[in-house]
Amino acid sequence: MADYYETLGVDRNASDDEIKKAYRKLSRKYHPDIAGPEFEDKFKEVNNAYEVLSNPDKRRMYDSGVDPNNPNAGAGGFSGGFGDMGDVFSTFFGSAFGAGSQGPVPRTQPGRDALASATIDLKTAVFGGTAHVKINTFSLCQECGGSGAQGGAQPITCPDCHGQGFMQKVVRTMLGQMMTSAPCERCEGHGTIISNPCPSCMGHGRVRTTRNVGVNVPAGINDNARLRLASQGEVGEGGGAAGDLYIDIRIKSDKQFTRDGDDLHCWIQVPMSWAVLGHDLTIETFDGKQTVSIPAGCQPEDTVTLKGLGVTNLRNSDERGDIVAHVNVLIPTKLDDEERDLIERFSTLHDADAGHVAQASRPQTGQKKGGFFSKLKDALS
Ligand SMILES: [Zn+2]
Ligand SMILES: [Zn+2]
Repeated sequence: MADYYETLGVDRNASDDEIKKAYRKLSRKYHPDIAGPEFEDKFKEVNNAYEVLSNPDKRRMYDSGVDPNNPNAGAGGFSGGFGDMGDVFSTFFGSAFGAGSQGPVPRTQPGRDALASATIDLKTAVFGGTAHVKINTFSLCQECGGSGAQGGAQPITCPDCHGQGFMQKVVRTMLGQMMTSAPCERCEGHGTIISNPCPSCMGHGRVRTTRNVGVNVPAGINDNARLRLASQGEVGEGGGAAGDLYIDIRIKSDKQFTRDGDDLHCWIQVPMSWAVLGHDLTIETFDGKQTVSIPAGCQPEDTVTLKGLGVTNLRNSDERGDIVAHVNVLIPTKLDDEERDLIERFSTLHDADAGHVAQASRPQTGQKKGGFFSKLKDALS
């Protein structure tokens, strides 16, 4: 039976809140879109565990030895119990049974993964580029090369336990005298000792350092994406192999564009006369200045599209989204006498026969709703 508590890294008395927190953290960490497809199984495991432990009935069933995800497998068995029994034995009898399988504890331990975040601007997301992060982790001690011994000397075999890492003792128990073993005190179970520890790392083979890491950001990256740099994480105890470094990417909001998938949206203010007569104007884009052609008769909230000037597609770098410019028509509020005369003359010529006002229960042409604008409003509300 799978150990769901272990999968979520919580203990058996964990509260619902602790379980939820652990799940959120892990499901994010192992999400295949973030961590890569190789984590898909791990991600499923985490979800299975949460499905059971988050449901009080299923959790009770699981605690009694039946896996609700696989109810027949545990029937009559409580296979998970054997692991627990093993622990009970070793607690009672020390390692009397397992002396052969108990070896020295390696001085070198694998390092843990590290997590950092980097903020990039929208232009870097459009074209790709480099993000820089400053991280503070354990890194290899340069002084001893990770051995922990001064001058790069290698640790020597412990004279007390002769490299075994544990000492045998005879103890009295309720079952009579028994041989038991305990970790060697002199070498703390490592089987080796460092007679002259390296002064830089105090024998740990690693030191805390701050370093700058540059990471390649692929074009089209999404906000909150997590990048992985293999073996750039924390160096382990005794100079052990470094874990991985994960970098969460945040994209700064941009003054000129709002991103929607691969498209970039902007809003442009256009004088009434340009909307009526049509006009070519220039806007700033990530590809430099570009011409936007406002067609004659352009209505408020009409859009003009500049093809292929949006965000590079993450999966296909030959493709780019579009720029969608939303037109905001400016109605003049202050007119001098000459302008007023002109508008009045225009009104007489153009609108004298306009007839009755069109009235409807829904927006008509020129007040298009739906699409990106209302999606944006929904997202902000
Ligand atoms: Zn050192
Ligand atoms: Zn020893």
